[in-house]
Parts: sequence; C-alpha cells; structure tokens
Amino acid sequence: MCLLRDYFDKNTNEKVFIIKNFIEVRIPFKYFRRLERKYNVEYIVSMGEPRRVLSHITKRNLEIITRESGIPLLGNPAFGVIDRGTNLLQVRGVTGCNFCCAFCSVDEGRCSKSRVTDYVVEPTYLAEWVRKLAEFKGDGIEVHIDGQGEPTLYPYMEELLEEVRRIKEVKVISMQTNGSLLNEEKIEMLENYIDRINLSLSSMDRKTASFLAGVKYPLNRILDNARIIAESKIDLLIAPVWVPGYNDKDIEKIVKFALEIGAGKKWPPLGIQKYIPYKYGRKVRTKPMSFHQFYSKLRELEKEYEVKLILKPEDFGIEKRKKYPSPIKKGEKFRARVVIPGRMRNEGIAVIRGRTVTIRTKKRVGEYVSFVITRTHDGIYLGEEVK
Ligand code: SF4
Repeated sequence: MCLLRDYFDKNTNEKVFIIKNFIEVRIPFKYFRRLERKYNVEYIVSMGEPRRVLSHITKRNLEIITRESGIPLLGNPAFGVIDRGTNLLQVRGVTGCNFCCAFCSVDEGRCSKSRVTDYVVEPTYLAEWVRKLAEFKGDGIEVHIDGQGEPTLYPYMEELLEEVRRIKEVKVISMQTNGSLLNEEKIEMLENYIDRINLSLSSMDRKTASFLAGVKYPLNRILDNARIIAESKIDLLIAPVWVPGYNDKDIEKIVKFALEIGAGKKWPPLGIQKYIPYKYGRKVRTKPMSFHQFYSKLRELEKEYEVKLILKPEDFGIEKRKKYPSPIKKGEKFRARVVIPGRMRNEGIAVIRGRTVTIRTKKRVGEYVSFVITRTHDGIYLGEEVK
C-alpha cells in the first residue's frame, strides 16, 4: 500500500494528500503553490497552513491525538482506553467506519447523521495508557481492540500491537472487525500479535447482508477471510447481530458455517447478539426480540448443533478487577477550556484531573465553559453546560 498519495481536487481547488489510506490533508491550491517553493512534501503535509484534516473514509473532521496534545486517554467512549472494572481493557485508536449498518449502535459510517468528528490516536501514546492501566490491574489482562467504528481502519495497527504485546500483564489480545478490510497479508501480520478475532457477519445472503451493512457487501471476501483466520493461529469468533424479520434464516446458516470452518479453537466459535435499538444509534424497523425469546431460540440452536451459544464473561476468562481510580464525582462543577470538538454536534471535550469530559455545549475549541458532571459510569465522563 502506498503510504502517501496526492491529487488535485478541482471541485474545491485543493491539493489533497492521503496518508496511509486514512488521513486526508487538504490545502488550498494557491497556498500549496507558495509552500511548494520553500518546503518539501513531508513538511507541507504535517505543517502546511491553512489546511483541513479529514478522515478519508468518512470525510469528517479528524482530530489527531498525540502525546504532545496532552489529552488524556481515559474518559471518552470514542478514543483511548475503557476500564469497566474487569480484567478486559477496551482499546480504541480510531473512529469511523466503511460500513453503514442499519443497526449500528453508534450511527457510524459516511451515512451518519449525528457524528461530526473522528479521532485517531498516536499508537505509542495509546500503548502508554494501556500499560498504565494494565500495571494497575495486574496479571492476566485481555486487551480488546474495538471502537466506535471499524478498528482495522487504524493506520498504525502494527505499531500499536507491537507495543501492547510487550506489556507483561497482557495475556490476550482480541479484536473486533467487520472483516472487509482484511486480506491474507494483513491476517498474517495480525497472527504475530492477536489471539482472537471477533468477526461480525450477519447474513450469508448478499442482498440481506448489503441491506444490513448499508453498503454493497463483499460477502465472498469476508467468508474467505473467515476461513483464512480459522486456519491461522488466531482464534475466530463469528458475531452476527440477529435482527428479527431480516436475518432469522441466516443465523442457522452462520452457525453451520462457523462450525464447518473450525471457528472457536480455544474460545466459543459464535457470539450471537440480540439487536437492541440505542438512543444515539440507527434503528431498524422491526420489533426487537425479548431476552426471553432470544435465549430460548439460542437454546434450541445449542441443542441442534451441540455448541455453546449463551455466553458468559467466564467463557472468555473475564473476571472482576479493581477499577482505575476515578478522580471526578457526579454533580461536581468545573470551569475549563474546550480542547477538541466532541464527536457529535454541540459537544466539546475538556480535560479535568487527568480525564476527558464530553460536555454538551455550543462553545468552540479554545473557549471556556462552566459545566456540571452528569455521568461518571465506567469512567466515561459527561457534563452539561451551566450558565
Ligand atoms: S455496526 Fe460496526 S461495522 Fe456496522 S457501521 Fe457500525 S461500526 Fe461499522
């Protein structure tokens, strides 16, 4: 893959640089011509002003979070590390997705109506925070690379994995993916670091899969990737979302497929999820199953295929662990500067006591805002502006 591509966009009159197929830097052409006389391309790409930095995938503004930015990697659900009080750490280096799933709980992809900012985190900085939390929590940590988006879009995946593998407390590295951006070469690279891939695959029928994914679904490529993973050293778990009225018939086919290709060598081969509509997610026109209905259907499939489908955290070796201390309490009031834009419209992110807080406000980056903390659960901090 070419690390740096460039072209001239005649619609906007900008010189465009694409880095690692992910970061899109746009500079007005007349400024670029001036800069070009004095500086080399590397300098222009990283320092050239004025410029716009976008996610090449979603075309939204992209915030690059580096160690120098001083932005802590705890407190936000979209980037950094999430500690929910177990031996599993969720690690999020990137937002954005190349799919537009009809059921997406975080309204991701280019079709998103609510997300306006994407983030990408410097890999060594992210690994530093993983180390800090892993050392606090002790031995036997699982690092789960997931995100509000598709984790394999992360342009610095190998650098991150290399660092995380060196953390002695980390025993398992797993990753969530829609599988569309993988190929033999990438799976070979992942094989050096990753123990399990949770692959989302919700239909074995191209039309249904395309409807559910909101894009032309590369079914053959994803099935091939599933087979390659199952044959590699990486364990494969296939994770369909069961959307009643849409993929009822597919679930059984997916169970058969997972068993046929040898998914689940060490961990369960399937992690079937119930479709749940979320407040800020996309919703499918369907009546969601009750948990009772869902589990009784899983029990029937379990009997028929002699496979465990009702899963518990213990099936993955997940146990309770002390949470990293929280320095912020619900109801506390603060005044702080917005340091980066929030993920949704009318949100800004401030830094308080070494954590990020997402505040509902119209204030822009650089402006001060007074707010009260409204949520601290799972170390994710939200605030509401007060006048
Ligand atoms: S559900 Fe996953 S794959 Fe689908 S749009 Fe959302 S983040 Fe992307």
